[in-house]
Amino acid sequence: MTSNQLKPPQSLTLNRPLKQLNLEIETCTRCPRLIKHCNQVAIDKRAAYRDDDYWGKPVPNFGDAPAEILIVGLAPGAHGANRTGRMFTGDRSGDWLYRALHKSKLANQGVSIDRFDGTKLIGCAITAVCCCAPPDNKPTTEEINTCATFLDRAIDVYQPRVLITLGGLAWRATLKHTIERDWVIAPSPRPKFGHGAKVKLTDGRWMLGSYHPSQQNTFTGRLTEKMLDSVFKTAKRLSKT
Ligand code: SF4
Repeated sequence: MTSNQLKPPQSLTLNRPLKQLNLEIETCTRCPRLIKHCNQVAIDKRAAYRDDDYWGKPVPNFGDAPAEILIVGLAPGAHGANRTGRMFTGDRSGDWLYRALHKSKLANQGVSIDRFDGTKLIGCAITAVCCCAPPDNKPTTEEINTCATFLDRAIDVYQPRVLITLGGLAWRATLKHTIERDWVIAPSPRPKFGHGAKVKLTDGRWMLGSYHPSQQNTFTGRLTEKMLDSVFKTAKRLSKT
């Protein structure tokens, strides 16, 4: 047997840590306020989903490792990912995100209904700053800091060339991780968030900012389909540089 035959395939070695990470996320109970909220939402339910079996716990990363592009959201939606168990799945934000991913050939389809709908990400993955749905979509600083270890490990597991942050909070949290890794070439003054903001990192990596596809942004026209498409187009281009 040659030394190559002794080595497991790369996909297996990389997916094992991802499975372990996702399992740890799903069973995490470190933020009592968030765990209580996720459970309560799953009991109360929204009338439109009263027959659904809510996930009601921390939501794991979505997408196989490695991934050239890692999308960092804020947190699962109470009746979206907290209901379906998959990041950005089952709500209007997800409709926008997966439509854009499909248009950029980063997903095999542009809909995301539930975790059994056959959606597959292609060369990208989705994670979040906070893996539990927070009341009013607002995790506390302490909760974000507590969950930071999972985001850090997601970056390790996925080894992305491009990090796309959805919203200012995800930008700041991700920037912190990249600075801690000495990836940011000019960390001071701290690069500012904006739609289309770009930070060149070390070793050909990039960080991009995008407005979050929340209804607050999409209903008001602050974020248009064209604007979101353009971020993914840029990310794809940069991931090949
Ligand atoms: S937010 Fe993160 S650290 Fe806190 S309970 Fe959820 S998964 Fe655990």
